[in-house]
Amino acid sequence: MALATDAPGGVLPVRELAPGVYAVPGDTGRGVEGRPNAGFVVTEGGVVVIDALASPRQGEQLLRTIRGITDRPVSWLVLTHHHPDHHFGAVVLRKAGARVVAHPDTRVLAAEGGEDALIADWVRVVGLDAMRGFEFANTPDRKVTGSDTLRVGGRTIVLTHPGQGHSAGDLLVWLPRERVLFAGDVLVEDGVSMVVDGNSSELLRVLGTVEGLGPAVVVPGHGAIPDRPSTLVRRTREYLTALQGEMRAAVERGVPMRRALAALPPADSTRPVSLNSRRRRNAARVYVEEERKYMGLDSP
Ligand SMILES: [Zn+2]
Repeated sequence: MALATDAPGGVLPVRELAPGVYAVPGDTGRGVEGRPNAGFVVTEGGVVVIDALASPRQGEQLLRTIRGITDRPVSWLVLTHHHPDHHFGAVVLRKAGARVVAHPDTRVLAAEGGEDALIADWVRVVGLDAMRGFEFANTPDRKVTGSDTLRVGGRTIVLTHPGQGHSAGDLLVWLPRERVLFAGDVLVEDGVSMVVDGNSSELLRVLGTVEGLGPAVVVPGHGAIPDRPSTLVRRTREYLTALQGEMRAAVERGVPMRRALAALPPADSTRPVSLNSRRRRNAARVYVEEERKYMGLDSP
């Protein structure tokens, strides 16, 4: 994953989805491998930012971008989950005055080696320079474990933990009046959402929650904003359902994981979130899920 190239003046492109509601779309052309999407909502009571991008450098770009639209104070930062690419810029927004709203479960598999390993891995992705000034700033000041409504300056923003679909700390960010949903990585541009830190059956349930909201606009965690949210939801569901079916069939026939994965193209060794890499990592995860289901154990 490379850094987004600096736009002139260090300001990122924005797209107004509804009056005062902005997406900060990731790189065009790199799809799910590009910089994540972020967003912000301008209210009379300050700005509510959704996700903080992947490094202090990117956090600064995001803050400058917001400052290009409004000089209202940044009052809240909502994190859709705790993967580094969505919160490693958070320190900048916190220092600008934002209080953090997030699910308190910050566990991700990537962090199993501990915080130092997570930072070291991430430096290799975004570069040392982009990480200057880094501090963890994803501990919530306001914890959301079920559902919570943020009412700021006449705006209503509903935050829901829909289950552990993509990760243990997922939140959906829903603006009911504007019918805009910031979905985090529950949805990504090509429908191949990662479940290695989550669970495919949970994610299928979450897709039902997303559908139930009936959003007019969905901002996925990465890649283009779809013309029709329902098309992306359907594509994601079809991918996950087919993968579960394939892995279940392999488990039932006693095919070992290695052979079950042999049909898939190899992962790209230097691109952990390329399409091939995601499909392969997800397949390994879902194989284990199906194996556990077959044995009558709980999902991992
Ligand atoms: Zn993620």
